[in-house]
Amino acid sequence: MARTTTRQAGAPGSYQRVVQKYGGTSVADPDRFRAVAERIKRARETYSELAVVVSAMSGETNRLLGLAGELSANPPRRELDVLLASGEQVSVALLTIALADIGVSAVSLLGDQVRITTDSSFGRARIQSIDVSRVEEVFAEGAVAVVAGFQGVDARHNITTLGRGGSDTSAVALAAALNADVCEIYTDVSGVFTTDPRVCPDAVKLDRISYDEMLELAGVGAKVLQIRSVECASRYKVRVLVRSSFSDEEGTYVVPEEQIMEEVLVSGVAFERDEAKVTVHGLPDSPGLAASVFGPLADAGLVIDMIVQTATVGEDRRTDITFTVGSKDLNEAVSIINVVADRVGALGVMQSGRVAKVSVVGLGMRNHAGVAARMFQVLADEGINIQMISTSEIKISVIVDGELVDKAVKALHAAFISAETGAAAEVQ
Ligand code: ADP
Ligand code: ASP
Ligand code: MG
Repeated sequence: MARTTTRQAGAPGSYQRVVQKYGGTSVADPDRFRAVAERIKRARETYSELAVVVSAMSGETNRLLGLAGELSANPPRRELDVLLASGEQVSVALLTIALADIGVSAVSLLGDQVRITTDSSFGRARIQSIDVSRVEEVFAEGAVAVVAGFQGVDARHNITTLGRGGSDTSAVALAAALNADVCEIYTDVSGVFTTDPRVCPDAVKLDRISYDEMLELAGVGAKVLQIRSVECASRYKVRVLVRSSFSDEEGTYVVPEEQIMEEVLVSGVAFERDEAKVTVHGLPDSPGLAASVFGPLADAGLVIDMIVQTATVGEDRRTDITFTVGSKDLNEAVSIINVVADRVGALGVMQSGRVAKVSVVGLGMRNHAGVAARMFQVLADEGINIQMISTSEIKISVIVDGELVDKAVKALHAAFISAETGAAAEVQ
């Protein structure tokens, strides 16, 4: 994304220019719009320049997707974006109306009006640049800019959307472009926890988390922040604060690693329920094999997650390749793979739509061996079979039966993170 200047955010208390983002549950109904408007009114007493990014009302994006699904099994992606962007249009208008009603001067702006320019990948567009002059004009008039999250326009003025949870990215990118002191992400939990507090009541709120850890957590399912928003925050050094719009509790700062005081072995456990697994069995092993399987999937724009190829066995040199995709892409992946399997002479294609990914993330893993072994033992003790494994420098992920995900998360959280002390387990 193009921007003009970079500035390290100031200390709390000295903020002037702030971006706030309110997610769907924060604006679920008229009472919630009123509550958010009051919060913005209070923020105006401290912050002289305030831009507010808003998501669609809770459930609205899914409702719109459902409507499109009733008309077509395969709606044109461009038209889906026109449809989905309407959810955020409703929200900016309603919030601005609520603000006007309590005497706060505000102007609503859609992606096109700002202007937030993206590439043309409908449904998962990337922000390329943000022209902040219109927002600056609103600031100069002494008003709050209320900006529609999740949406932008491509070079030809087609409406685009940024992928599920994309309002987080709109907010962080706007904060970067505006050189804001902080980007406050208001949601329905009071910060980033050691795991999803809805699954594990022992989850502990973190005061701070590094960009790298947050990036990994977001990448493996902690939907409290969209992964692209964390990438953007890390690249442009945007100070991000995640906190609740339902309380005044302190939130969690996402900060550079240097600002993390204590190194923990595991700072978080994350999970992704909606995973599916596909196995291409008995592929004749020869150079170009993997490319012949994954090329057509990539051409169809499918995002593949874990991949495992088993050792070649037997005299006729055959091998199996197993990979995971998001559940929503399973049917498309299987129909592509059936064609590939026929073409290359594979023995069969198997699928399972009932798997989940569970991951542990922590900076301490860089310097400490044995985390993987301990994780596998914890799962074994629970009788949970590991179907696939993948690791990175600060993350270990496993694929398990979808029914066992809550059990796995609770067991790993109990083993790696000390709930009693209210803090993440420290490196010995
Ligand atoms: P919003 O509508 O505000 O964008 P989301 O539903 O996208 O909110 O994200 C907030 C949700 O993220 C929480 O309600 C919580 O269930 C979930 N979540 C998953 N992992 C975590 C975590 N580690 N810390 C906090 N929340 C998490
Ligand atoms: N409304 C969009 C969604 O539900 C964007 C967002 O909430 O961030 O994914
Ligand atoms: Mg969200």
